[in-house]
Amino acid sequence: MGVYEAVIGLEVHAELNTDTKIFCGCPTRFGQEPNTQVCPVCLGLPGVLPVLNQAALHKALKAALALNCHINQWSRFDRKNYFYPDLPKNYQISQYDLPLAEHGYLEIEIDGKKKRVGIKRVHLEEDAGKLLHEDTGGTRDRFSMVDYNRTGVPLIEIVSEPDIRSPEEAKEYLENLKTILQYIDVSDCKMEEGSLRCDANISLRPAGSKTYGTRTELKNLNSFRAVYRALAFEIKRQSEVLDSGGAVEQETLAWDDARGVTVKLRGKEEAHDYRYFPEPDLTPLQITEEILSGIKEGMPELPQQRKDRYMRELGLSAYDATVLTRSKTLSDFLDDACRLGAEPKAAANWLMGDIMRILNAEDKGIEDTPLSPGHLVEMLSLIDDGVISGKIAKTVLEEMLFTGKTPNVIVREKGLLQISDASALRTVVEQVVKDNPKVVDDYRSGKEKALGFLVGQVMKHTKGKANPQMVNSILKEVLDG
Ligand SMILES: [Zn+2]
Repeated sequence: MGVYEAVIGLEVHAELNTDTKIFCGCPTRFGQEPNTQVCPVCLGLPGVLPVLNQAALHKALKAALALNCHINQWSRFDRKNYFYPDLPKNYQISQYDLPLAEHGYLEIEIDGKKKRVGIKRVHLEEDAGKLLHEDTGGTRDRFSMVDYNRTGVPLIEIVSEPDIRSPEEAKEYLENLKTILQYIDVSDCKMEEGSLRCDANISLRPAGSKTYGTRTELKNLNSFRAVYRALAFEIKRQSEVLDSGGAVEQETLAWDDARGVTVKLRGKEEAHDYRYFPEPDLTPLQITEEILSGIKEGMPELPQQRKDRYMRELGLSAYDATVLTRSKTLSDFLDDACRLGAEPKAAANWLMGDIMRILNAEDKGIEDTPLSPGHLVEMLSLIDDGVISGKIAKTVLEEMLFTGKTPNVIVREKGLLQISDASALRTVVEQVVKDNPKVVDDYRSGKEKALGFLVGQVMKHTKGKANPQMVNSILKEVLDG
């Protein structure tokens, strides 16, 4: 097999989370009854005029700035003409040769190595409707229905330079992009609801070569995992074609996730197939310095800045800071807990350990649970004050996550108070020593491990409620004394 280098570019569409559509006042809520969020403008009825939603423009500019783009002082909307039933006007209002923003970059990090992936352009456009295909069995009953609720929902298209070299880098790029868009609150980025969509193009070339090979375009990538798998598949497939002396065909492929293969959709269309021309119903966009400085001032802390702050001010490791900042809600939670007096490392450990484990198992975000930063802080101080042990805290935490009760209430209701009464503990310790003469002999003959077993027995007798430090010292007193 030849040694090839993959050249990958990603095209991401993100729905902006504005209340209303881009050129009319229809709401953008997801999951409503079909065709209930439509009007003459988004249905493309004759005689109507589009009016640009300023909130959509503002969010698109915010995204472009967060992606380090140069904002064009003048840009323009164009009509992209094509016929498809989900497009009632038979054209999509998009941007072509004068996009909103260009020449940005996004930083990714793999195995500690940082790399910049160029952002070629960010532009604003409207979404199309959605086709629902029904198949009731017989050939006569096959039909499709169309829902125009999504028609006219604002989208930004973010096109990367072909700087990505592996499926791992593609996944990292998408994760980082999603995190940034969530931090700046321009999109909810729910791939399962279609508010974040990704196409990829990929070609191979001999390692070290500067010229591009023939590329294929991959569609129907419905998750980051699908992007990764489809790219890995395509690298293998194209390598085999090239190795056998064949030529890769320029075509559009769909990823079949169930079968784990790419299948041909169509030959590649060229841009001129769309007969782009300037949108006559909208004035060109002029973006002034004043507009931009307003947006810059309102820019929140970005994931990379937050990560740096966590390492610098909270003393977290690079790994911990990366994991925590990947979720805005999780790191907001940590910030709130610290503000309420939590020791940062302790709070971070609980978040990354038991809390994330439970959230992942339940497939939830921390915002979907009744757990509050105040409750976590309260639990941490119960541990510090010796009221509960770290082990009991795990039980308390689980209860907090599911019921929203405060740790103090849970400890009281469940009788989880730590036993720190020396004489009560001594009684249990003496009993355990008496019941395990062989282990005690082992300990006395120098097997340090035996002590751990005895501590475990005491914890078992006290249902985990014994103060572990006290058990240790009392055990040593009894055994060595
Ligand atoms: Zn409308």
